[in-house]
Amino acid sequence: VTQAPVGDLGARLAFVREQVADAARSVGRNPEAITVIAVTKFHPASLVRELAALGVADVGENRAQEAAAKVVEVGDASLRWHFIGRLQRNKARLVRGFATAVHSVDSVSLADALGGEGPVLDCFVQLDLTDDRSRGGVSSDALLPLAEHVLGVPGLRLRGVMAIAPLGEDPRRAFSRLRAASESVRALDASACAISAGMSGDFAAAIAEGATHLRLGTAITGMRPVRA
Ligand SMILES: *Cc1c(COP(=O)(O)O)cnc(C)c1O
Repeated sequence: VTQAPVGDLGARLAFVREQVADAARSVGRNPEAITVIAVTKFHPASLVRELAALGVADVGENRAQEAAAKVVEVGDASLRWHFIGRLQRNKARLVRGFATAVHSVDSVSLADALGGEGPVLDCFVQLDLTDDRSRGGVSSDALLPLAEHVLGVPGLRLRGVMAIAPLGEDPRRAFSRLRAASESVRALDASACAISAGMSGDFAAAIAEGATHLRLGTAITGMRPVRA
């Protein structure tokens, strides 16, 4: 993946979309089957509005309180908000209030806290691709029982699996394990076929391994502001 040109937001977004489409075609996939989620964490509401004006429909945030405030400030009911960060049970209701999807479901108790009345919440179960539980998610042993549990929680719809590539390993190799995990989740429920994988530095590898949802921050937005 080459570096995005320094330019305005619209140019970077167009460049990223082109790269995503090229990567998809190069492995014989339809670019239309891939959803790009623009990760806007740390950025102000104004940036989300600019992205929306450029046609972005899916945005991603990783902190519950920051996201909840931003949703209100942006005030655009047509946007789909994806929650992609580690989530504590006591923030589950807050996130359920604004999110279309939670990509980071990593425990039975979190799944239970996310369930309930109201619009159906899409869920991805997060697989940890490291050996040291360092990047969030559950071990491969725990993934299927968790997926099965999510399928039984009212108000949740299991969409598929999610992972973050480990540091220091070829992302393609890591994402191939995610793809295998995705196949076993699909065996539980054929509609749980989505794969949330791929960040700014590794999305081509993720696309090659079947990613359907890319979470792209800096490639679209440029450098993130330093967290206050
Ligand atoms: C921040 C973040 C991203 C986006 O990372 P970039 O490298 O900026 O594309 C994707 N996924 C998760 C879980 C994140 O926290």
